[in-house]
Amino acid sequence: MEKIIISNLKMNLSLDEIKNYINVVKDIDPKRFIVCPTNIYIPYFNNELYGVGLQNISEYNNGAYTGEVSAEQAKSMNIPYTIIGHSERRNIFNETNEIVANKIAVATKNNIKVIFCIGEKIEERESLKTKEVLVEQLKALQSRENDDIIIAYEPVWAIGTSLIPSNEDIDDAIKTIKEESLKYGLKDVKVLYGGSVNLKNIKLLNETLSDGFLIGGCSLDPENMLKIVEITE
Ligand code: PEP
Repeated sequence: MEKIIISNLKMNLSLDEIKNYINVVKDIDPKRFIVCPTNIYIPYFNNELYGVGLQNISEYNNGAYTGEVSAEQAKSMNIPYTIIGHSERRNIFNETNEIVANKIAVATKNNIKVIFCIGEKIEERESLKTKEVLVEQLKALQSRENDDIIIAYEPVWAIGTSLIPSNEDIDDAIKTIKEESLKYGLKDVKVLYGGSVNLKNIKLLNETLSDGFLIGGCSLDPENMLKIVEITE
């Protein structure tokens, strides 16, 4: 089965670099490859040719919320995807599970497909609470209004650190996520792995049960993504 690959460019790259990025990845099947650039660059991607997504979306409807982008606005621009619940949003911008649930509600209501990120912190892992944390975070699925959701298992301690879990640990987490999602009526959900994926470890990680990968640092070079898409075919 072909895997889904998502680039999370975070707050990186200049406009010239984005134009080059678009050129390099233009022939990758948009069903397999999604790019989440900094929001202001989204209009440079033709939504019909590229799988493109926001990195975050407001929990509010339109109104006096300076700096926010609403799901209705994203819908009006035919933006197909948004990331919700990335650990940087949770930990730097204090997004709680409740806020994440509100975002899932508003995005799915407006038919924006959700890339829902969950994962445990290092202290939670060390105190053997990974499953508990995932189960708690997955409760946000209850607020969804449709099943257009991809889940990304991203252990916080693996993001941007060069550390990765064992394949066995990734598989355990993926099984938990699939079982728990089913309890909320979400069948056949795709579960990706994210956290320090790179060209050196992709072949090993490709042997896990994951349905694809969410990639940060390594995705900043579009040539890397061409290779990763090919390796994971
Ligand atoms: C991420 O931020 O979602 C991520 C997986 O980052 P990195 O690949 O750099 O660990």
